[in-house]
Amino acid sequence: MSALHAASLEPFETCSIRPPTENASLSFRLTRNCHWNRCAFCPVYKCGARFSRRSIDEVFADIDRAAALDDYLYERGIGFRVYTAADYARASGVAEEIRKARWEAGALDPAGHDEEPVEVSPRMRWFMQWFRDRPSIEDCVSQLVSWRIAGGATCFLGDSDGLFIMADVLCAVIERVRERFSSIRRFTVYGRTRSAARLRSPRELERMREAGLNRVHFGLESGSDRVLEAVRKGVTARDHIDGCRALREAGLSCSVYVMPGLGGAALSEEHARETARVLGLARPDYVRLRSLEIFPDSPLEEEFLSGRFVPCSEERVVREIRVMIDETEGEMEIASDSASNLLEIYGRLPEDRPAMLEEIDRYLALSPREKLEFSLRRRLDAFAGQYGGITDDIEEAMEPLLKNGRVDLSRADDALLSSLIALVRGKLMP
Ligand code: SF4
Repeated sequence: MSALHAASLEPFETCSIRPPTENASLSFRLTRNCHWNRCAFCPVYKCGARFSRRSIDEVFADIDRAAALDDYLYERGIGFRVYTAADYARASGVAEEIRKARWEAGALDPAGHDEEPVEVSPRMRWFMQWFRDRPSIEDCVSQLVSWRIAGGATCFLGDSDGLFIMADVLCAVIERVRERFSSIRRFTVYGRTRSAARLRSPRELERMREAGLNRVHFGLESGSDRVLEAVRKGVTARDHIDGCRALREAGLSCSVYVMPGLGGAALSEEHARETARVLGLARPDYVRLRSLEIFPDSPLEEEFLSGRFVPCSEERVVREIRVMIDETEGEMEIASDSASNLLEIYGRLPEDRPAMLEEIDRYLALSPREKLEFSLRRRLDAFAGQYGGITDDIEEAMEPLLKNGRVDLSRADDALLSSLIALVRGKLMP
């Protein structure tokens, strides 16, 4: 393989924000960032990132860049016969060679980080290190290798609302991806229920499905209009019901995110009950729980700091989930696939309802002290699972609890446990 060929390879734009089920998917950007970008709880595109449409030629060029890079990796022996985790190590060497060849040819690569954002807090800086608005060659190689190792069958098209664009464009993009990557079997997008209910016609949704789109992930968050309005979601419970139904009628799989805790203490009861009611009417295939975290630099953080938003306790959030599981009618899969959740609640409604309620009731029966200890253990496990270990600041904060090299929670009073829980939760990626 000539150095000239390596020098001609270019990075392609990928989606940093994806559903957890799409972590190992190949991803392309149909648009950049979020055209709504007003939800009070959502930090993701608030730090200087602006919405923009991309021309179909730009998206095609990215798909072609990804295919060229994928071919090059294969020619260099990455994934020869079968892709394995060992290919990661070899791929980073190949990525380095490509970077060098490009540099020698005069190409300027992004360093792999977003441009320095306008004024962000240290906590926000922690999260932003995982986002790439302009991925480097290394980022793109890493995504291709993870995707191949995971089977090379899934593709996520972002960013925040794949239904915002015309069916013709989405269908053409899917067709191009399929031409270049014949192993892909599943295409998914994020969407807004309002776009499914009001922007796209039933026929357009059907055409998307015929082209190969399989599933749409909606951020439903709440079924309460008062909560939706308070957090400036820009949609109504009616949009949620109509949007989910429109998907199902078009033969598309519907996955929704629900956010326990979003109504705060003031609207907690209503949030839980109305969400259960709306889920029963919307009948999505999957409900994914993602408990509220108040993110730094988000509008909700301002409301919290000024006392206008009073968050629910962890126990109150669990009680909301209990109401949602208990009162939702219909058949759907419940998943707790987010590190933001205290409890791991998985199952299918209605048959697994008793088992899920039992899991919740076991936690609710704990004493206040046991609940704190349970929470800290769970949050630490989630943190270690997400980042592969704990960070220096958490280790330092845990110092008073160490005895003979082991963590002894009995050495901490309730206030210390609560502050440790807040520290760990504050760094978890939802
Ligand atoms: S629509 Fe989604 S991405 Fe956009 S601001 Fe709301 S939660 Fe964030």
